[in-house]
Amino acid sequence: MLIAGNWKMFKGPDETREFCARLRARLHNLEGVDVIVCPSFPSLHDAVGMLATTEMAVFAQNTHWAKEGPYTGEVSPWMLKEMGVGGTLVAHSERRQLFGETDESAALRIEGALDAGLHVIACVGETEEEREAGETESVVRRQVDAIRTVVEDENLDRLAIAYEPVWAIGTGRTATPDQAEEVHELIKRHLDVPVLYGGSVKPENAEELLGQPDVDGALVGGASLEVESFAAICEAASRS
Ligand code: PEP
Repeated sequence: MLIAGNWKMFKGPDETREFCARLRARLHNLEGVDVIVCPSFPSLHDAVGMLATTEMAVFAQNTHWAKEGPYTGEVSPWMLKEMGVGGTLVAHSERRQLFGETDESAALRIEGALDAGLHVIACVGETEEEREAGETESVVRRQVDAIRTVVEDENLDRLAIAYEPVWAIGTGRTATPDQAEEVHELIKRHLDVPVLYGGSVKPENAEELLGQPDVDGALVGGASLEVESFAAICEAASRS
């Protein structure tokens, strides 16, 4: 099981150090679950330092694809790797919806990050309108195919997919375990990598979602911002 906490644009370096110290103490003996935190860029260095002696990993929330170049304001995956970051999220729905991320730019980022030696959690998921129009399968298929085309077989072990229905992110609305399972099963038919569920995962619903046969973990937003709720989800994962 893999549980990743996406902190979005919350927690600067001070709060990050405090959170990591508490999380480290709280999850000290946890087994059977890989735990990842995804701070924003300025907090990565502190998170890497605070979690260095643990099994927990630190991922970025985004990356550029190039090793270096005249790309003002961008961050290279090679720089992330050099600072001890283990991987990165790519194509979170907030990037797709608010910052113009496309299947094509997502594919470039995934390729660049894998080339740099990072792990990748690539996000896919349909909007509410797409679900209502019966397009969930075709949208998710298209997104997964765009990812598949750029990943060499030898890099597949550094890739995970997060299925995050856009209508369930930050809304308090969660996909039912059956809805999640149906899409996870579809994704795994096309790409045999771990598939995480994301969308309003909380301590109260984690066990049921994580209990589905094709749910290999969770990408957690809001509930990853508090040590107690994030730790409770990690504990639910270790029981699943
Ligand atoms: C996310 O940001 O990836 C997410 C799933 O958010 P939330 O858990 O708050 O819905």
